[in-house]
Amino acid sequence: MTNEFKNFYFLHIRKTGGRYFKEYILKQLEDKVEKLPIKDRHEGWKKEIDDNTYVFSILRDPVEYICSVYAHMISTRAGLLHPSNENGKHTDSIKDNIVNIELDKKYMFEWIRYNKWTHNLQSKEILHTSEEYNNILNIIIKKYSKDNNVDKELLYERLNRINLLVRQVSLKNPESIVKKLCDDLNIELAGEIQKDTLTYHNMASTNLYNSLTEEDKIEIRQMFDIDNEIYNNHSIFSQLDNVCSFCGEYSYTTKFDSSWKKYSYCSNCIESGKALLG
Ligand SMILES: [Zn+2]
Repeated sequence: MTNEFKNFYFLHIRKTGGRYFKEYILKQLEDKVEKLPIKDRHEGWKKEIDDNTYVFSILRDPVEYICSVYAHMISTRAGLLHPSNENGKHTDSIKDNIVNIELDKKYMFEWIRYNKWTHNLQSKEILHTSEEYNNILNIIIKKYSKDNNVDKELLYERLNRINLLVRQVSLKNPESIVKKLCDDLNIELAGEIQKDTLTYHNMASTNLYNSLTEEDKIEIRQMFDIDNEIYNNHSIFSQLDNVCSFCGEYSYTTKFDSSWKKYSYCSNCIESGKALLG
């Protein structure tokens, strides 16, 4: 890298599409960027991050996120995931011939209500760091079993420090992310970017999400109040060319309002009232 950044760190929050990013995008950049050394997939906010580090991260809608975390946990326990990658660890992909897994939302709600450490888990993954003999999830479970308060000041400090922060939906249009990365890091991509072929998709998570009512979603958003707040805070996300900040769709017909000029939304999101500042 020829600019001010000497190294790159992908703060990989679980179940936010990071596997796709690593496989299809980061791999192509690998020989052009110096990465911070990592031992585990999810290491949180590494101590090595300094002024020379370019930090990239992805956040996901809190409701989709917890459905995905829960479905992943259950699928792992049931032995439904493809068993291994190069590290011998579980991959995120469900065995291909199983598409009709239905999880009962009742048990997910019991699990979330009982395991309060799961609340605002995306924020917690930004606030903590894995240690040599203790992975980040264990650290989070221990820390938040008694006191579930999140250090919001530190959280916002770090969110604002992240050089490129996108919503998971923006991965639908990865070219815009890659363009921003390459511009910021002053590098070029080796080849074409493939679209997500859903290789890493767990249908159990989608089915579970689709079984939720509006009331269910509101309840989850209340339990995940801080994750919900940051997910809907447009000012912390990077604006990507021609990508709706809210739904991640290409938005050639982006409408602009004088107070919205900093943001790009597609007309659908503006009309449905989903994309509101504040
Ligand atoms: Zn939109």
